[in-house]
Amino acid sequence: MTSCFCFPTTCTVWGPVKLLFRWGIDLYLLGLAMAVITCPSALIAQATAVESEVHRRNYISQKIRLHTDVEPDRAKRMLRRMEKTLRRISSYWRTPLKGSIECYVVEDINRWPENSFPNPSARALIQFVGGVTLTKMQVDRRKSELKAIVYATPAPGVVEHEVVHAYCFQTFGKHGPDWYKEGMADVAGRLADPRGAARCALEITSYLRDQTFRPVDEIVNSGSFTQPLIDIKNRLAEVTKNSVQTYLAPSLSVWGAPEDEILQNVQSAYRWSWALCHFLVHNPNYSQRFRAYGQGHLDGNGIQFAKWFADVRKELDFEFDFFVRHSRPGYRVELCNWDWSLPRSPLKERAFLNVSVRAAAGYQATGCSVSAGEIYRYRTSGRCCLSQDGAPVTSAGDRSGRGKLVAVVMQNYKLSKEIELGESGSFSAPSSGHLYLRCRDDWGSLADNSGSLRIRLLARPASPSPGLNSNATSERLLEPVANRVSRK
Ligand SMILES: [Zn+2]
Repeated sequence: MTSCFCFPTTCTVWGPVKLLFRWGIDLYLLGLAMAVITCPSALIAQATAVESEVHRRNYISQKIRLHTDVEPDRAKRMLRRMEKTLRRISSYWRTPLKGSIECYVVEDINRWPENSFPNPSARALIQFVGGVTLTKMQVDRRKSELKAIVYATPAPGVVEHEVVHAYCFQTFGKHGPDWYKEGMADVAGRLADPRGAARCALEITSYLRDQTFRPVDEIVNSGSFTQPLIDIKNRLAEVTKNSVQTYLAPSLSVWGAPEDEILQNVQSAYRWSWALCHFLVHNPNYSQRFRAYGQGHLDGNGIQFAKWFADVRKELDFEFDFFVRHSRPGYRVELCNWDWSLPRSPLKERAFLNVSVRAAAGYQATGCSVSAGEIYRYRTSGRCCLSQDGAPVTSAGDRSGRGKLVAVVMQNYKLSKEIELGESGSFSAPSSGHLYLRCRDDWGSLADNSGSLRIRLLARPASPSPGLNSNATSERLLEPVANRVSRK
C-alpha cells in the first residue's frame, strides 16, 4: 500500500506551534492543528461533481457558525450534535466557551471554489486529512483574541472531535499532553451520540484486545505522538502552495510503506489514548481526580500523572487492564468499577455472611476473604432480570447460563478463574484473597439488568447444615461505589 495514508477509522492530531504572520496583525498558529485522518479517496472520486453554490449554506446557532454543503436536515442534526458536545464539555471543564466557533464541513470539495476558506491550506487539508482545526490569534491595539476554525468532512464524530479542540483552544489556550488532548476529544465527541453503546466502538475495543496490552505508564508517556501527522500536513500545505491543481500526484509520490507503518503506530496511540481517557472519565473511583488532573493542564498547571494517582496506582492499573479486556459496545465503565474500600475479613467457623449482589453491575466485593482450598457453602434467594422485558431468573441463571451467580477471588490484584455457583451448594476457594460475586451476563449488556440476589455464605460447614433462617453474624447490601478512592 503505497498511496494510501488513511486510517480505517478517524484519528486526530495536534501539532507543534508554528507561527505564520499574515496581514500584519494575525498570527496563524498552523501547527496547533488537529487533523482527522480519513481516506481521501471518496473525496477524490467526486471530482466530477458539479460545483454549485446552491449546496453551500450557513447555519448559525448560539455558539457555532456552520458553513456546509451537506443537505439541510443533516446539517441541522450535525449542528445540534455539535452544540450538545459543547454543552457537555463546558459542563465537564466548568467553563463556558469563549466566543463562538466557526466550522466548515465539506462533503464535496468541488462545490467550494477557490478562496472559500479563510485559510488557503484548508482546501488540501480537508481532502487529505479529513478534519483539522486551524487557529489564529487576532491582535489589535486593545486586545488579543484566540480564534479556532474547524474544517471537517461529515464523517461521524469528526466535527465533534474538532469542536472539542476548538473549545479548548479558544477557552483555555492550552490542551495538555497529546494523549489527554486527543483521548478527551474522542471521548467527548462520542458523548454526543445518543446510543450509549457507541461509547465503546466495536472496531476500537476489538482492536485494543488484539494488541499487546499497553500499560497506563506507556500511554501517559507517549509524548508528542502526533508529530508524523503534522509532518504530513505541512508537506501537503507545501505542495498546495506550489500548485493547487497538482497537489495529488506529488504527495502520493512521496508516500510509501514506511509512512504507512508510522501511521499505524500513530493510530494505535490514538486508540490507547481514547481507552485511558474513557476509562478515567467514567470510572467513579477516579473520575473526579482525573477531572482535576485535566483541569490543571488546561489551566496551565501541568500535573505529573504518576504523582497525582500515586496512592491508587495499583488499583487503577488493575481496573484499566480489566476494562481493556472486557470493553465492547454497551460496556459501561461506571457499572463495572471495583470496590476497594470495603474492609474484608475471614469468615469464622460457623459464621455467616449475607450479601446482596446487583444484576446491573460487574463483580461486587463481599467483604469476605477466603483461604485457598477451604470449602464454603452458600444458599441464595431472589431473582433478577437480564433485560428490560426479560423473565426473572434465580441465581441458577437461564438455560444459556446468563444470570448465574459466579465468583472470583482477588489476590494481589490478580483474579482466580471464575467459579460457577448457582442456587445453593459449596465451592472450594482456588486461592486466598477477597471474594467477589456477580450475576453473569455479557459485559456489554449489564445496563438494562435489574433486581438483585441475596447470598448467605458459610465457612466450614457444620452438620447439620444451617438454613437461611439462622442468625447471621453480618449482613451487607453491596451498594454502588462512588469515588471512594478519589481525592476531593
Ligand atoms: Zn484531535
